[in-house]
Amino acid sequence: MPFRIRDKPGAARSVAYLMLAAAPANFVTCIVLPTSRPLGWVVTTVVVCTFLVTGGLMCLRRPEKVPHAWWLIAPFFATALITTLNQLSNDASTGAQLFYLWPVLYSANFLSRRLMGITLAVISLAHASVAFRVLTTAHAISDWFSLTVAFALTMVVVYSLRRRNDTLREVLETQALADPLTGVANRRSFDSELSRAVAWSHRTDSPLALLTVDIDYFKKINDTWGHAVGDRALQQVAKALCGTATGPDDVVARLGGDEFVVLLRTDRMAARRAADDVRAALAEKDGLPGGPPGLSIGIALLPDHAETGDELVKASDTALYEAKSGGRGRTAMAHPASARQNVDRVQPSRTSVA
Ligand code: GH3
Ligand code: MG
Repeated sequence: MPFRIRDKPGAARSVAYLMLAAAPANFVTCIVLPTSRPLGWVVTTVVVCTFLVTGGLMCLRRPEKVPHAWWLIAPFFATALITTLNQLSNDASTGAQLFYLWPVLYSANFLSRRLMGITLAVISLAHASVAFRVLTTAHAISDWFSLTVAFALTMVVVYSLRRRNDTLREVLETQALADPLTGVANRRSFDSELSRAVAWSHRTDSPLALLTVDIDYFKKINDTWGHAVGDRALQQVAKALCGTATGPDDVVARLGGDEFVVLLRTDRMAARRAADDVRAALAEKDGLPGGPPGLSIGIALLPDHAETGDELVKASDTALYEAKSGGRGRTAMAHPASARQNVDRVQPSRTSVA
């Protein structure tokens, strides 16, 4: 990913602050401090300062409107600006060189390793163009060498901290979205996946199936064999569900206790088949003293049984309830939305059990 930017909002703020700080610095260096200021010089400075302020405000307020390439060339633009100022002021002092820290830190924080290397090479060459013009050759060599090594080390340190931060963030994100016992998604993660899937279903006019799965008599497993065996049963169920939800956008989540959901971008027949497959996969598993646990499963589909994510969850939950009250160990399909209203009003116990 040589041309991707990491943490675009952070990069945008970083560029904005640089440009907004560079404008007054440029103005002071080029107009306030010099004793003679030819007209062309003043005009150029005003144009550059105006560009810096406008660009800085744009990066700060509307980063999405800024072309992607800008975030990649920003350190080279900064290097060119710093070098020009140092050339014009014949300044090869440590203070003047310190400004190169911005492109160094920016690259190490936001760009790929290849672009970091290119940034370092460009800064090294740019500084050499000032140092070898302003200083004696011997002094210039040692100054150029020290600066290049110091900036290379800075890049390495900042880049390794960045990698560490990225790893930590990934771990935290995974922990925040996964159920620690089974490794499947947790409720929070499921909620956002459901919204995404419902939007997809509406957009593409495709069916979306939600299976709500609950272990039968799970409390009894805990009470009979202990909590650890109960935990293993939960893990086995999660594994069986994952084995059937193999599509790239399929989601298995544990909503809490012994209740799971499976979100499949598929139709009624395939959803029913998936429920059968889960049972078959679970039946093949051994290792639990009381044998594989039984499952009750409720299925609801968008748009057949619901229009929104909340309605889909409710319809699937109602179907699960019907599977439980119909004797457990079975799958129930939700009723069509219109029929369900009648069912809710007139015949609360009517089921459609597979
Ligand atoms: P039903 O057939 O109607 O579904 O009854 P059930 O016994 O499966 O369901 P119930 O809601 O009565 O019991 C669920 C139990 O799940 C109660 C709770 O102690 C247990 N439980 C919840 N979370 C965990 C967990 O992480 N590990 C284990 N081992 N048990 C859990
Ligand atoms: Mg249960």
